[in-house]
Amino acid sequence: MDRLPVIRTSLPDLEEYTNEIKDLWDSHWITNMGVKHEKLQALLEEHLHVKHIDLVCNGHHALENAMEVLELPAGSEVITTPFTFASTVHAIVRRGLIPVFCDIKPDDYTMDPDKLEALITPNTSAILPVHVYGNVCDTEALEDIASRHGLKLIFDASHAFGEEYKERGIMTYGDISTISFHATKVFDTIEGGAICHDRDDLVERLTDIKNFGIRGPEEVVYPGGNAKLNEFSAAMGICNLRHIDELIDKRRQLTLKYNELLSDVSWLKLNVIREGVRSNYAYYPVLCDDRDGLFAKLKDNGVDARKYFFPIASEYECYKSRYDSSATPVALDVSRRVITLPLFPDMSLTDVERVCSIIRT
Ligand SMILES: *Cc1c(COP(=O)(O)O)cnc(C)c1O
Repeated sequence: MDRLPVIRTSLPDLEEYTNEIKDLWDSHWITNMGVKHEKLQALLEEHLHVKHIDLVCNGHHALENAMEVLELPAGSEVITTPFTFASTVHAIVRRGLIPVFCDIKPDDYTMDPDKLEALITPNTSAILPVHVYGNVCDTEALEDIASRHGLKLIFDASHAFGEEYKERGIMTYGDISTISFHATKVFDTIEGGAICHDRDDLVERLTDIKNFGIRGPEEVVYPGGNAKLNEFSAAMGICNLRHIDELIDKRRQLTLKYNELLSDVSWLKLNVIREGVRSNYAYYPVLCDDRDGLFAKLKDNGVDARKYFFPIASEYECYKSRYDSSATPVALDVSRRVITLPLFPDMSLTDVERVCSIIRT
């Protein structure tokens, strides 16, 4: 039997993609905010119900550019969680800011607002929570704390494409939400990402940041970098967006099948989607005490799972001397017990049965 990967990127039909990129051969305009970029931006603003979308070359630069445009003071502290992808924490450090780690909630693995306020100091400038696995953060409590303390609130919504909470687009929470369109995510542009916000006054500066601060042939107004999304990536996004509802529905069916086959396994803790959330079913995380044993058993039977997220950021080689990972005991515990099972739209219900029967035997 073929190995079952943990994730496999969905691609549009080759013909659909080649049709979409044909006019690039006529125009020879293949990057620098061309027609595909402009079209995808407008389509996403509508699809995600946000006023402004700034497309960039990846989700990591979306985070860095978001912190840059909000002008967080150099050397100030940004409170995030260690239970995230490396990018979230690295983006803080690479902007010359100091990550401070808040623990997560044991039920949905997002930032615990009850543990947040004790970490705020006069040097805190922002809060950067993550909608882990598409589980929606406690947005109301976090917005309340941010506004009471005059802090910026940036959500890393890389896992949350297309989600809604209480019938409101998830990308509309906080000052800014950032997202990744990497090939492994629910919606992809091969590589890509975006900064979502509703502030007219940030639009021009965000363009400066991603395009060298160049506004005209002889006009350079800001020391920006280069984080532009090219036309081939934007075209891939336009194609993928046509199929997104169908792709998310396939994920939903696979998730329900997993739930059905695993809900009576007493030693497994399944993920619960909070009331009021329209989920995108991005990942299928489960927790168990012998995580490494389960990982090895799946691997021996041809199924690739992922220890996602393990280790936590405060245990990384590059950070561990500066942090005590036992200060976030829930994050530490979850990282040692979590495993994400294979989940991607091209997977079949039979594949789910295969994974579950390995788990159950
Ligand atoms: C994928 C991801 C990123 C980084 O996005 P890239 O597009 O890979 O640069 C950041 N944060 C989280 C939570 C992610 O999952």
